[in-house]
Amino acid sequence: MHKVIIIGSGPAGHTAAVYAARANLKPVMIEGQVRGGIPGGQLMITTEVENYPGFPQGVQGPELMELFKKQSLRFGTEIISADVEKIDLSKRPFHMVADGKEYVSESVIIATGAQAKWLNLPSEEALRNRGVSACATCDGYFFRNQDVCVVGGGDTAMEEAHYLAGLAKSVTIIHRREELRASKIMQARALENPKIKFLWNKEVVEVLDPAAGTVNALRLKDTRNGETMVHPTQGLFIAIGHVPNTDLFVGQLDLDDLGYIKTKPGTTQTTVEGVFAAGDVQDHVYRQAVTAAGTGCMAAIEAERWLVAQPGAH
Ligand code: NDP
Repeated sequence: MHKVIIIGSGPAGHTAAVYAARANLKPVMIEGQVRGGIPGGQLMITTEVENYPGFPQGVQGPELMELFKKQSLRFGTEIISADVEKIDLSKRPFHMVADGKEYVSESVIIATGAQAKWLNLPSEEALRNRGVSACATCDGYFFRNQDVCVVGGGDTAMEEAHYLAGLAKSVTIIHRREELRASKIMQARALENPKIKFLWNKEVVEVLDPAAGTVNALRLKDTRNGETMVHPTQGLFIAIGHVPNTDLFVGQLDLDDLGYIKTKPGTTQTTVEGVFAAGDVQDHVYRQAVTAAGTGCMAAIEAERWLVAQPGAH
């Protein structure tokens, strides 16, 4: 029987672990496997991180996660290299199975994160972090005074384009239809920005040029007549949405319309007492390592206070 099990090993999970361990809760972290078996979350597929406070020279995403992990281990977090396959949150203590082994805990902190959706083109994959990104706040700075493109027609695409317009020479939004999905206010902001242009009814079929190891153009297909064209650009931002990693919790916790875990405003408390959620799995607005870490800290403090308030706690 554990006091707290943390599911996930990104900035939210590790920050929760540091706080829980220092509060003597002896946390167990089930670190999960992300993209081909690397735990650590989305920072593991990022290169330079320049906006995490405390690193004035910047830090590589995987290096930052290694430091997070070291800090969790330093205070005695037990880290299990496995995915949670099953969980039962219907009664306390909570039961879960990871790698065929059963774990039981009085409280659970869910920090399973989210994943950006990609176009799933081989050329996009080859040039990821070499001109292709899914996060303008993270990578926009590298494209100062350059021409960049954003794919998508929703609020994320409008927001990313607006952010990039403050840095880049020009931003072209590529959308597969001629009508945006974004809210009217976000549409208006993008349409009125002189630095933002639109290419309608186009989909990206190839990012050029993997052979050069850098992005210099996109091959686009017209979704109405199938004609193709080449559009020069130096950067490509994919903004077609994110998917939270919440499959395990469907039917057990309240999720919002987009599948993110609902938490009580201003807290990390989910709809099940003793179950807390931190980081991107409950946040589709900020999605930053530092905000994930912040909510990870909140979750550990709330779990500790909740455990202390339970009958028979010592
Ligand atoms: P959405 O699902 O709203 O939009 C995704 C967009 O990407 C759509 O325009 C869609 O096209 C396009 N798309 C999806 N798949 C592909 C593909 N394979 N190829 C090309 N285009 C594709 O996701 P968002 O991330 O934009 O928004 C998610 C939620 O978060 C929304 O509820 C949004 O309102 C909210 N949000 C709010 C913000 C704010 O208020 N500040 C900021 C960001 C998000 P199509 O339209 O043709 O389906």
